[in-house]
Amino acid sequence: PKVLLTGSTGFIGAAVLRELFDKDYTVRAAIRSESKSEYIKAKHPEAVANGQLSFIIVPDITAPGAFDEAVKGVDYVLHVASPFVMNVEDNEKDLLIPAREGTLGVLRSIQTNAKDTVKQVVITASFASVFDEPVYNLTGDKVYDESVWCKNTWEEALVNPPGYAYATSKLVAEKAAWDFAESEKPNFTITVLNPPFVFGPMYQDVTASTINTSNKIIQDLNKSLENPDPTHNFIEVDVRDLAYAHVAALGNPKAQNQRIIVSPGHFSYGSIIEICKKFKAEGETYAKGPDDSAELLKKENAIGGANLSKVKDVFPDLKFHCYKDTIVDTVRQITELEAAA
Ligand code: NDP
Repeated sequence: PKVLLTGSTGFIGAAVLRELFDKDYTVRAAIRSESKSEYIKAKHPEAVANGQLSFIIVPDITAPGAFDEAVKGVDYVLHVASPFVMNVEDNEKDLLIPAREGTLGVLRSIQTNAKDTVKQVVITASFASVFDEPVYNLTGDKVYDESVWCKNTWEEALVNPPGYAYATSKLVAEKAAWDFAESEKPNFTITVLNPPFVFGPMYQDVTASTINTSNKIIQDLNKSLENPDPTHNFIEVDVRDLAYAHVAALGNPKAQNQRIIVSPGHFSYGSIIEICKKFKAEGETYAKGPDDSAELLKKENAIGGANLSKVKDVFPDLKFHCYKDTIVDTVRQITELEAAA
C-alpha cells in the first residue's frame, strides 16, 4: 500500500517513516524543501533503491490546495506535521494557524482530489487536546480518558505563553478534523492519536543543539540533575511505540473514527533524574540490568490520573518499551550528540 506522510523530517515522523518501511509500505513524504530530502534518503538507501520512497515539496501547508497533488493515488495519509516549538513570535501565525489549516488542508485535498482512493487518515494529535488543567501534573483527582476535551480557546491562546498556544493549536486542529468528518461525511475514516510526552531515540537530522522539544526535557534534566518540580507526575510514550501505533492503525477496524491516547503509563522529572544519575554512574551495566521502572515510579508516587485501557484494546500486539529503556536510550544518544558537538 502507498502512504502520504507529512512531518518525516521531525522526531515522530522520522520514527513513523522507519516503521512504514519495516512494514513494507511505499511512502510519499511531503517536505517543506528539496534540501530536506537528502538526510532522509541517506538514512534509507534501500527504500530509495527499490522505489519505496519519493518526495513531494509542500512549501506552505497553510496555502489553499497545498496537498492537492500530494494526496493523489495514495491509500492512506499520515498527517504528523505540526509546529511543536516554544520560541515563537506570533502564537496565531506560528502555532494555531499551521496546526489547524495544515490538518484541514490535508482533509480538503483528499475530498477534492482523492476521495475514491484514500481509505483512512491518521492524525498525530496530542494528549494536550485532552488534558484541561493549567499545570501539567496528573494529580489523580480527575481521571483522563478519550472522552475528555481540553477547554482552551483560540482567543486565550493569543494572550498566553506559547505552551498554552501549542496545546490550543493541537485542540483546534483535532476539533477541525472531527467537525470536517461530521459535516463532509467523507469516504475515508479518521484515526486520531493523542500521545502525551514523547521520548526516545531520534532518527531525524539532529545535533546536541537541535534536540526536539520533548526530548529536550531529558537533555535539560540530565544536565542539571535538579528537579524543577518534585511533585511532577505525567504520562509518556516511547517514540518507537507511537510509530508502531501510527502504522498499526492502518486498516485496523478498532482504530476507525477513534481518538486514542497512546501511552503505557507515567513519568516524572524525579525518576528521569534518578535514571540519568544511575546511567552516568554505571553506564551500560545499569542499561542492561534489571528493569527498575515500576520501583522508580512508585517511589515518586507517579501513578493515577489517566485511564490508558483503550490503547491496549485497539493495539493488543503493541508491546510498549519499558520506561527505563525509553529514558536510557534517549540519554545515551543525547550524551553521544553532546560529545560530538
Ligand atoms: P518536531 O518539531 O520534531 O517535528 C515537527 C514536524 O512538523 C517537522 O517535520 C516539521 O517540518 C513539521 N512542521 C512543523 N511546523 C510546520 C509548518 N508550519 N509547516 C510544515 N511543516 C511543519 O516535533 P515532533 O515530531 O515531536 O511532533 C510531531 C507531531 O507530534 C506534532 O503534530 C506534535 O504536535 C505532535 N506531538 C508531539 C509530542 C511530543 O512530545 N514530541 C506529543 C504529542 C503530540 P520541518 O522539518 O520542515 O520544520
